[in-house]
Amino acid sequence: MTDREFDLLIIGGGPAGFTAGIYAGRSGLKTAILEKQMAGGQVIESPLIENWPGVKEIQGPDLVMKMREHAEQYVPIMEYSEVTSIGKDVLFVLGTPEGEYRSKAVVIATGARHRHLGVPGEDRLSGKGVSFCATCDGFFFKEKDVLVVGGGSTALLYAIYLNNLGCRVKMVHRRDEFRGEKALQDQVRKLPIELIMSSVVEEFRGEEVLSSVVLRNVKTDETTEVAVSGAFIAVGEVPQTRLAVELGVELDESGFIKVDRRMRTNVPGIYAAGDVTGGLMQIIAAAGEGAQAATSAFEELMEPYWLR
Ligand code: NAP
Repeated sequence: MTDREFDLLIIGGGPAGFTAGIYAGRSGLKTAILEKQMAGGQVIESPLIENWPGVKEIQGPDLVMKMREHAEQYVPIMEYSEVTSIGKDVLFVLGTPEGEYRSKAVVIATGARHRHLGVPGEDRLSGKGVSFCATCDGFFFKEKDVLVVGGGSTALLYAIYLNNLGCRVKMVHRRDEFRGEKALQDQVRKLPIELIMSSVVEEFRGEEVLSSVVLRNVKTDETTEVAVSGAFIAVGEVPQTRLAVELGVELDESGFIKVDRRMRTNVPGIYAAGDVTGGLMQIIAAAGEGAQAATSAFEELMEPYWLR
């Protein structure tokens, strides 16, 4: 096997990819993780994780660092190594800016990216008051007026985090009840956070930086303009499936990669794990799926070819 040939390549360095790396490395497969940015995935953005068993509280970046160090004991992690194309001759061939890598099997753990609202001002003011990550940008808005958009667990966590930074927080959600975890809803309701329900964002306004947000109540159709310095959008995730589609991997009706219980896709030798498969979209689930994907790859690569 040359330097550029592997038993297993893992695309994506988040909890699913790290765990797949640990399991694959320990089972003796020649493996590497390819990550297009800095390794860590979206967990890096999580202000606080309270449901990783054995650890009552940990910040996202700290958990990522521990996972990463653990994975690196077994497999190399190639950061800023974006897989731009994927195909197959005898082996799978992954194209990156620094050349091709070849592998007998691949785990796709490419995760998801933040969904955008698609309203005026959102893109123009992104990075100038409009943000998709409270942990990354919250500090710039310390003790200022901010708005959190969304009703899931991420939005609730952002509101709690920003309140703890001394921000005056408003939350806007399109329905009259939240979708997020009950424990987080209970925490939010105990804090001085103004809840603006059944309302949507119509526009982000501001010349150089964000200065206000126009909201519309979906029941009354009434619009109001709310002055804020920061707006944090947390309205869900869009799975990163471009490479999977290139290979002919089947997606489900919501656009996530379809897998069986062993994390196998419809393409032999291609496995998927983590947020890109949808489902629970939790760190614990991503880690479990990564472990299963690597184990399945190991078992199938070890199977004598005449039994396949
Ligand atoms: P999510 O659960 O999909 O929630 C997205 C929220 O955004 C929903 O409230 C949705 O409204 C709203 N939304 C979607 N599109 C919208 C639009 N165009 N305009 C306005 N609102 C819109 O996403 P998430 O909060 O990022 O969570 C993703 C996954 O991670 C979930 O499975 C979640 O359980 C998990 N997570 C868990 C934790 C935790 O366990 N502590 C923390 C963070 C994330 P509707 O409710 O009306 O659909």
